[in-house]
Amino acid sequence: MTNSNHFDIAVFPGDGIGEEIMGPCVELLERAIACTDKLDVSFSKYVAGAASYRDSGEALPNESMNKAAEADAILLGAMGLPDVRYPDGTEISPQIDFRFKFGLYAGVRPVRTIPGLRPILNNPAASELDFVIIRESTEGLFASHGKGEVIDDAEARDTLVITRAVSERLFDFSFDLGRKRKALGKPGHVTCVDKANVFKSFAFFRKIFEEQGELNADLQRSHMYVDAAALNMISRPWDLDVMVTENMFGDILSDLGAALIGGMGYAPSADIGDDHAVFQPCHGSAPDIAGKGVANPTAMFLSGAMMLEWLGDKHQCAAAGEAGRLVRDAVDAAFAGGQLVTCELGGDAGTKPVFDAVAAALDNIIKARSH
Ligand code: ATP
Repeated sequence: MTNSNHFDIAVFPGDGIGEEIMGPCVELLERAIACTDKLDVSFSKYVAGAASYRDSGEALPNESMNKAAEADAILLGAMGLPDVRYPDGTEISPQIDFRFKFGLYAGVRPVRTIPGLRPILNNPAASELDFVIIRESTEGLFASHGKGEVIDDAEARDTLVITRAVSERLFDFSFDLGRKRKALGKPGHVTCVDKANVFKSFAFFRKIFEEQGELNADLQRSHMYVDAAALNMISRPWDLDVMVTENMFGDILSDLGAALIGGMGYAPSADIGDDHAVFQPCHGSAPDIAGKGVANPTAMFLSGAMMLEWLGDKHQCAAAGEAGRLVRDAVDAAFAGGQLVTCELGGDAGTKPVFDAVAAALDNIIKARSH
């Protein structure tokens, strides 16, 4: 980064539909950025993923890792292919390597209904969901990634790890987010999701949540067991605000959250650490629909919007925040009339029609502003 208005973005399209949704996303972000006229963002594409491993033997080449480390932010499509695996049978997932390497402990998964999308739950409040799941992304059960063992073909073990250092930062991040949301009129209520009634690790997790909660006493806080959280996400998700949880629980609950807002194609995410951040849709490379032009790029667009807003916050760059909001407003406007129905919701709008609709909505917003 040379000044607070210039940002270098390392772009990793990845595998499967990742390639198909990344091009339109970068084009949309560039259009939003262009209309702020105070922002200079360069997007550079790098290779990583299952196809890279298959073709070169390297899932995450050194050059790609170095460029990612130097960049101001990382924009990622999706990585992994079911038939390309490491010799131990696990999938190729450089996105998980990024989380460990860069200490991206806060996995932010917004569950926000786009106005105009048919709600999945039959309750008027379901059309206005707006809560956030924060998934710890560097330890928990995923600490065992690449380290689990099978003993004599008779027993398998993976170990869950909770550390004080990461948990404190995770909870501070969650309370900060709760505070930002409170300033925007949300409840500012942070809920720790755990299984503290059964596991020592989760009792420790909850204890640290309480300690950090005492330091953030301006915010409401509560606990929920993960099984109750799954129930509440279906029975009364409109009451939720900020949920913070362990890696594996967050992995599962964030897919449940995606279902509540229309499916994986609508669910953006950010993996945030103290110095780096990766922005990518919650979904994987979806090989079942790759190459057909039917992938929904909305989650990718919204992840790009989160990236611009994060850059804006981190570098006090109002123009970046504004460009991010423009992209999100354009997505909302494109779906608002209920006419744009993506393939996974039974319609016929694939990648290009969704891009065209969102880009047209962006043009309209920009025109309306200049009048
Ligand atoms: P991973 O393990 O890498 O997260 P996954 O096994 O959860 O991947 P996904 O690739 O996320 O699987 O796909 C799950 C389902 O959702 C598939 O049927 C896929 O076609 C669908 N899907 C995922 N992303 C999209 C999208 N952007 N548009 C439409 N359908 C999608």
